[in-house]
Amino acid sequence: MCEIISLKEMQPGQRAYVKKLLASGSIRRRLLDIGLVEGTEIKCVGKSPAGDPSAFYIRGAVIAIRSEDSRNVIAELIEEGNQCNEREPGTKVIALAGNPNVGKSTVFNGLTGLKQHTGNWPGKTVSSARGFCRTGRHHLELVDIPGTYSLMAHSREEEVARDFLESGEADAAIVICDATCLERNLNLALQIMEICPKVVLCVNLMDEAEKRGIEIDIPLISERLGIPVVGITARKKATLKALTDAVDKLLDTEKCQCCTISSDLAGTEQEREDRKVTELVKTAEKICEGAISYEKAHDLRDRRLDRIFTGKVWAYPVMLLMLALILWITIVGANYPSELLSTGFAKLQVKLTALFQAAGAPAWLHDMLILGVYRVLAWVVSVMLPPMAIFFPLFTILEDAGYLPRIAYNMDKAFKCCGACGKQALTTCMGFGCNAVGVMGCRIIDSPRERLLAILTNNFVPCNGRFSALIAIIAMFFASGSISGDFGAALILTLLIVCGISAALAATALLSKTLLKGMPSSFTLELPPYRRPQFGKVIVRSILDRTIFVLARAAAAAAPAGLIVWILANTVIGDMSILDRMVCLLEPAGSLMGLDGAILTAFILGLPANEIVIPITIMIYTSQGSLADLGSLAEMQQLFIENGWTWVTAVCTMMFFLMHWPCATTLLTIKKETGSIKWTLMAALIPTIFGFIVCSLIALVFQ
Ligand code: GDP
Repeated sequence: MCEIISLKEMQPGQRAYVKKLLASGSIRRRLLDIGLVEGTEIKCVGKSPAGDPSAFYIRGAVIAIRSEDSRNVIAELIEEGNQCNEREPGTKVIALAGNPNVGKSTVFNGLTGLKQHTGNWPGKTVSSARGFCRTGRHHLELVDIPGTYSLMAHSREEEVARDFLESGEADAAIVICDATCLERNLNLALQIMEICPKVVLCVNLMDEAEKRGIEIDIPLISERLGIPVVGITARKKATLKALTDAVDKLLDTEKCQCCTISSDLAGTEQEREDRKVTELVKTAEKICEGAISYEKAHDLRDRRLDRIFTGKVWAYPVMLLMLALILWITIVGANYPSELLSTGFAKLQVKLTALFQAAGAPAWLHDMLILGVYRVLAWVVSVMLPPMAIFFPLFTILEDAGYLPRIAYNMDKAFKCCGACGKQALTTCMGFGCNAVGVMGCRIIDSPRERLLAILTNNFVPCNGRFSALIAIIAMFFASGSISGDFGAALILTLLIVCGISAALAATALLSKTLLKGMPSSFTLELPPYRRPQFGKVIVRSILDRTIFVLARAAAAAAPAGLIVWILANTVIGDMSILDRMVCLLEPAGSLMGLDGAILTAFILGLPANEIVIPITIMIYTSQGSLADLGSLAEMQQLFIENGWTWVTAVCTMMFFLMHWPCATTLLTIKKETGSIKWTLMAALIPTIFGFIVCSLIALVFQ
């Protein structure tokens, strides 16, 4: 519950809504005169040095009120972001609807104080989020229904949106539109007006519209539609007040708008639907006629940018360059912090060992916890954290700027040739960070067949955990430590990723010709306007949402894996440890693939998280039964060479990193998304078979 207090108790900085005036007579009159009517938002801006009176910001003016008067005003304290976290009696349910990418999540977060993921591509909100918010007179429960273009129920999102609106659960709906393409957005608004008795049209992105010289006559649109219309810029929280005011007003009125578009029931369902769509488009056109003016060719800048990012000549080179650049920045930027972290962990280890000795702990306990668990964990953190902390924000900036849908647009033809759809390019991109996230992202693909294709082949793009391993191998065998060397490393990594994507395409084609036969479905994807990314927010969001999340999960997998490997390495049966036995057993298969038994064992034991494959390999080579002090890359390279590594081994290992079973988390996600053990097994088998064939061929030709 939000707190009810009198104005007298308000502290500087606090905000509140006026609920009731207790005073009567002339004091009441005076309080009303300064604007303290019910629902007014006020802020306490200070107290006089003597503690009384206090100054309040009321309707644009700062007014000092003595405590003997202010105690007569009862107000409801606004918690941060006017959010409240629970349902109260009398809570009104408000549906938040709109086309994808119009700022629905931004409005939702702004009003509720929650943190739904926002991103600049269509269709990312598939399920409905709920949150609470308090306005001047009401307590609202906002339901963020999936972004859709219409309510004709052709896709899952449309069905969910339509069902919710038709259920009558919502007392009113806010339809959010993009000010830069209002006419097109009205299509959905008109359909919602048919179902919902109370609708507020919220024209968002007014700042973008202004930048493009688009002027919208909001009152005229409101008059023509017969509903309240407000213009806002959701990124500026202060503008949301106009929206909540409009909702308040609407909830207090009895009157409902009515809207019926084409109720002619003749003909087949298809004919009725066609007639309806035409009617909607015409109505929207009429409503906007003369109400929207374009000062200049509003999308000139975007079209110019599109010429570079999606043009015939530049699109693909720019895409590759962008990838190489991001990888290069990641590699260069990660070097130093990685070293720093690893030195820090080494120092901490010395201290921990001393602590164990001081406490008189047995040697085996020290070895198991420090040499087994701690070292693997330290490796994972020092190798993974820096590249992730650089890669994720860079990637999110591209996402926020509106570039990702362009990648889908550029790649659609290639995917279509393989029987899939361009949105798979988006989910592939998401896989770069983490394959589990990529697999979950496949929900944006409507056709079940194409969704399955995307899920089964997502693992071909290396996730961040594999990145770090690939970068380490490239640095050891193919690049010097210089800047140009780093660029060479970035190019090799880019090449590897292109290999991975080609393999994903090949696997997609193969599957769609065999197990998942079918025609590619139609492809429509909105290319949203380019927007300047919000750098600060992007960095915070990508570090909190993604980096910490992925790191925590990897660390959670690494610690027990470190323990298990330590136990395997230190449990001797006969004259050999279990680990050594495994290595011997896998040696023939390993050498056939250009690897060796140790590497293959490491891959198998690395199932919980790919980033522990290299540390396990080192552990086996040093046969210390524990993870050796890693030292520099040069020492590591020396160790690998002593164990028979050549450039062919390095290439084969990298290829197998690119193409083998997904990690345990990804497999669990696949099981959850497909609901089928068969497809989960397929998702593990397909890349492994590819990897086996490619590695064996390389070994056959070059060894
Ligand atoms: P949704 O798909 O409808 O939920 O849209 P989001 O809330 O994810 O917003 C899509 C993109 O538009 C994000 O990059 C937002 O930061 C951006 N955005 C949202 N509202 C505004 C706004 O009023 N002005 C500007 N310039 N960008 C906005």
